[in-house]
Amino acid sequence: MRFILLGAPGAGKGTIAKILVADIGIPQISTGDILRAAVKEGTELGKKAEQYMKAGELVPDNLIIGLIEERFKAEDSQKGFILDGFPRTIAQASALDELLQRLHLKLDGVILIDVPDEELIRRIISRRTCSNPDCQAIYNLTYNPPKKEGICDKCGSKLIVRADETEEVVRNRLEVYKEKTAPLIEYYKEQGLLKSYKHPDSKEIAKMIKTEYN
Ligand code: AMP
Repeated sequence: MRFILLGAPGAGKGTIAKILVADIGIPQISTGDILRAAVKEGTELGKKAEQYMKAGELVPDNLIIGLIEERFKAEDSQKGFILDGFPRTIAQASALDELLQRLHLKLDGVILIDVPDEELIRRIISRRTCSNPDCQAIYNLTYNPPKKEGICDKCGSKLIVRADETEEVVRNRLEVYKEKTAPLIEYYKEQGLLKSYKHPDSKEIAKMIKTEYN
């Protein structure tokens, strides 16, 4: 199965993707995770992407498209994938269409996770991420707090606020979403691929998706 998870930052795409990965056994391809790893490792890509990410701006399309093409070649992508955080612009979506056509692959669906703005902001600024790059567990101080304040339950490392998860940067990311990414809703509606989900609990949305596509 091949899906795109579409939605504003904080909509729960990552959480939903992780549940689906565990249940369906296909990989989550998160361009945000790939870019953060590149920044941490100090690769060429990471150096180019870092400033955009810190400001909550989009990384230029040409860097992202190359990265996806590489990722699709990996063994685990052959049985399907869940795209999380890609595409984010019309240019990325048409590059994806072209790439899929070249590989003789088809998308099964585009899943829009629809969450009101104020809820998105509230969720992101109360998010804490494990600082251990091999763990990266995500907590929410309201819905899913760690057992011990500031410490990851899974690996014992320190929890941090991501540089792009302060309120100011989050508001900018939402503006960027509306301007550059929201037009994809119409794009995929026209292709007959879009399904929209609205529920406060990401686990419930993951269940609905499984029922719909299994
Ligand atoms: P995310 O974790 O998906 O919210 O991504 C974090 C940041 O990485 C975004 O705010 C962008 O700066 C960058 N990023 C991730 N995916 C993309 C993409 N498909 N196109 C452009 N920039 C991206």
